[in-house]
Formats: sequence, C-alpha cells, structure tokens
Amino acid sequence: MKLPKRKAIANVPTPIFEVKRSLGETEGLRFFIKRDDFTGLEYTGNKIRKLEYILPDAMEKGAQVLITCGGQQSNHCRATAAIGAQMGLKTHLVLKGKEEKPIGNFFLDKLFGAECTLITEKEYREERAQIMDRIKKKYESQGLTAYVMPEGASSGLGMFGYYHAFQEIQQQEKEMNIQFDTICVATGSGGTYAGLYLGNQELEKKKQLLGINIYDEKKDFQTITKNIITEGLQQTGNEELLTNLAFDQVNMCNAYVGEGYGHCTTEAIHFIKSFARQEGILLDPVYTGKAMHGLFQEIQQRRETLKGNVLFIHTGGQWGVMARTQEFEI
Ligand SMILES: *Cc1c(COP(=O)(O)O)cnc(C)c1O
Repeated sequence: MKLPKRKAIANVPTPIFEVKRSLGETEGLRFFIKRDDFTGLEYTGNKIRKLEYILPDAMEKGAQVLITCGGQQSNHCRATAAIGAQMGLKTHLVLKGKEEKPIGNFFLDKLFGAECTLITEKEYREERAQIMDRIKKKYESQGLTAYVMPEGASSGLGMFGYYHAFQEIQQQEKEMNIQFDTICVATGSGGTYAGLYLGNQELEKKKQLLGINIYDEKKDFQTITKNIITEGLQQTGNEELLTNLAFDQVNMCNAYVGEGYGHCTTEAIHFIKSFARQEGILLDPVYTGKAMHGLFQEIQQRRETLKGNVLFIHTGGQWGVMARTQEFEI
C-alpha cells in the first residue's frame, strides 16, 4: 500500500486499558478501551488522526485558510480550529446552529480564533457544500488560498488516519501479547470506521469491526465505507487493491440511533454517569457514551458473536460534555 504523507501531530500511540467493573460478569469476554481521547487536549479525539493525512495535502496546495463544517458542538471543527491556530492558518467553520452563548466546543472554536458562520439545519442538510464553496471563493477573491474539508474530515485521505490506527493496534497486540477479536467504534460520518475496515481487510481479515451508528439510521454505511475507501485508494494510486476488497462485512448496528445525531436518551445519560463513577472515565452523550451504552447491551444479547477480547475506541468528545452538563442530575 502506498500511503499518503502524514504530518505527525497526535499524541500516539494512545494507550489501551482493560475495564472491568462496569460490565459486570461476562464469562469469556474481556473488555478494553483504547484512549483516542488522549490524542491531545485541544484536539482530543479521533479527528486529529484524520487531519494528519489531510493537512499535508492542504499545505501542498498552499492553503492559507481551512474551511470545514459540522454541528455547533462539532469535535472535528474544534480540532480544526486548534490545529489551524497552531499552524498559523485562518480557520472558517460552517456550523449548524444559532448564534448563542459560546460553550463547550463552540467556545473553543471562538477562543482559537476561528470565524464561524451559523446556518439552519435545513441549509446544513441541503447546501452546506455550496455554502463552503461560496466562502472559499470569497477568500480567493481576496487573494487567499482556501482548502475545504468535508464533515468529520471523512475524506479518502482522512480515512488513512484510522488505517494507521489499525496498524498501531496490531503493534500493541504484539506488545500486550493479546488478540482483539472485535473492535467497536461510534460512527457518525464514517471515516473512522472506513479506515479500520480497510486495515482489517488489507492486513488481517480476522477481526469483527462493529460500528455503532449514532447519527441517522437511514445512512447506508456499507456504501459510505465503500465510497470513502475507494476515494482514498484512488487518490493514492492504490486502485488495484480495490479488486481484493469485500464490503459485505460492514457490521453497523443501528439500534441505538434514537432520535438521531446529538440526541441522547435518559438511560444513556444514566449510563455515562455510572460509568464515570465506576471507571473514572468520561464519555460523551453524542458519540462515545451513546455507543458504549449500545455496545454493553449488544454484549448481553449477542453472546455468540461478541466474545473474546473486545476493544472499544474512545474517540473523544469530552469538551461537548461541558456544553450539556444540565442534562446530568448531579
Ligand atoms: C466524529 C466523532 C466520531 C465519529 O467518527 P466518524 O469518523 O465521523 O464516523 C466518534 N466519536 C467522536 C467523539 C467524534 O467526534
């Protein structure tokens, strides 16, 4: 595999710890967490791994402005704002939401000096690409080179961040003298899952990759995974690998989407609270808490297929928790 250029920024390898108390007795199953929330304080989470592969392309194209989009509490947008500031670039974010008191990730976007354009849900759904394109043109008319990244940095290049993470996990398996049978991850825009999927297909084929959809049950993640991987392999001159890849093993669980992106059930909030008290680990209501709450239920229901060593990737999201503290009865 010809890999694209990587700009090393994230604090990796991230550690893997075993978690015991909160799962209760589960014979034949050990549960581990890979702390991708340790990738860096300001850019905590999974997005920085993707940005490591997107930024070299942006630099090569002479980018002076980074443009991207997401929800108002987007972790990806906050990570982009932080890294933009570190690299001396301007960041312009297109956020779904209303201008309100900046808290959580939105506060950090502003703290890092990102310019924020707020749009409605409908505009976000239907025309965010055009809106970003208009902003790009505006910068270009000022003589500045702007670079647009998609939602969640889930582009073909960004996907390599989790191909790389898959290799990192294989290395850790050697060091820990363990084999992970299942890797589970919260799934939104799909780039994280796609990178892991490519890693497993290309390097191993042995693991079960379980995605927990937290976004929208109408999303077809088999097609999304295929599209992101295809784009990535084409962009890097690896098309010939496509013929060897099967996409029928995409394993996405839609049972815990609830009311969709950003919505979290009372049970999941309770779960985050009890997990924090039993393990001293902070999960978030949009991604990791919702997904792990789902995974724990799946573990009870799917004894046949969910066994052995299960690794959950903690993909971050802690700053978003700070925007929603009122939902927790503390
Ligand atoms: C973006 C995000 C995810 C989902 O990753 P995708 O690649 O968009 O599927 C999971 N967890 C957190 C905390 C995130 O910010």
